[in-house]
Amino acid sequence: MLTDSFNRTIDYLRLSVTDRCDLRCSYCMPEGFQDYEEPSHWLSFDEIERVVGAFARLGVSQVRLTGGEPLLRAHLPELAGRLKRLPGLRDLSLSTNATQMEKHAGALKAAGVSRINVSLDSLQAQRIAQIAGRDVLPKILSGLEAGQRAGFSPIKINMVAMRGVNEDEIADMVAFCMRHGYTLRLIETMPMGDTGRNAQYLDLQPIKEQLRRQFGLIEGFVAGSGPARYLQSADGAFTVGFITPISQHFCATCNRVRLAVDGTLYLCLGQDEKVELRPLLRSGASDQDLEQAIRQAMTVKPERHEFREQPAKLVRFMSMTGG
Ligand code: SAM
Repeated sequence: MLTDSFNRTIDYLRLSVTDRCDLRCSYCMPEGFQDYEEPSHWLSFDEIERVVGAFARLGVSQVRLTGGEPLLRAHLPELAGRLKRLPGLRDLSLSTNATQMEKHAGALKAAGVSRINVSLDSLQAQRIAQIAGRDVLPKILSGLEAGQRAGFSPIKINMVAMRGVNEDEIADMVAFCMRHGYTLRLIETMPMGDTGRNAQYLDLQPIKEQLRRQFGLIEGFVAGSGPARYLQSADGAFTVGFITPISQHFCATCNRVRLAVDGTLYLCLGQDEKVELRPLLRSGASDQDLEQAIRQAMTVKPERHEFREQPAKLVRFMSMTGG
């Protein structure tokens, strides 16, 4: 078991397989961003498998592939298959913008990815073009359909809710998700980098009350992972989660750490504490050394982020950490 200094059990790893993305979401990656890590700094599949294997031996049973846009990493289904075969790894999931999903859905499902989260901030093509910097709504929608055909379950829609940008579409998104059988997760913008700080923050607490009334939703509880608080329809068929790091943070139940594509282990999404695993991997460290480094890293996991108290603190933006 991996535990941190605040007695939290860490059983969930977010694994960033690339820091590249084909979109430029206004709250995430800056438009001119090209300062990509050199691929030689990226962990190879062998290195990733070794690190994730060490985490799995230490009790981490859930891994989410993320990025950047994970589908841009070549041969991702091969990596997924290798990870899924690791003893102890029970749940392999993927966060994606779905623009490339049509091509990869079948292979990823066959490799053992069971569920996906898809970013979708609007159902209006022009708005997506504005928010993501690319005109990709049709591609995302066909990617989602491909995901459904491939049998991923559940499929969750991640909508970053922004004042004056897409707040008027939240009810439409609820209706869309109800119609298609998707779970919705509404996300507050986090002040990660200048992009995140400049985003139009919207407090989701009043939205929650509004949706409760408008759709007759009731308090829901979703066992297991994830920080969202939930509402659901009375028959349980539809669920909406609220990721509210600003208006109501959920650090006390944090169960996760994040591994960036260059082997940096980030202990908190909103703090700078980190441990570099790549030097260990490339200097002949044993599996025991690796496990010891991971155990040791847990001792510097911060109690909580300070997005509210110190919004200017974090320089790195979300795609660099693995959101
Ligand atoms: N490319 C994949 C995707 O689109 O889901 C995975 C990486 S993306 C960085 C992960 C999630 O972080 C997305 O849902 C995105 O909308 C969200 N995100 C990025 N920057 C954010 C910010 N500043 N505040 C809140 N959410 C953010």
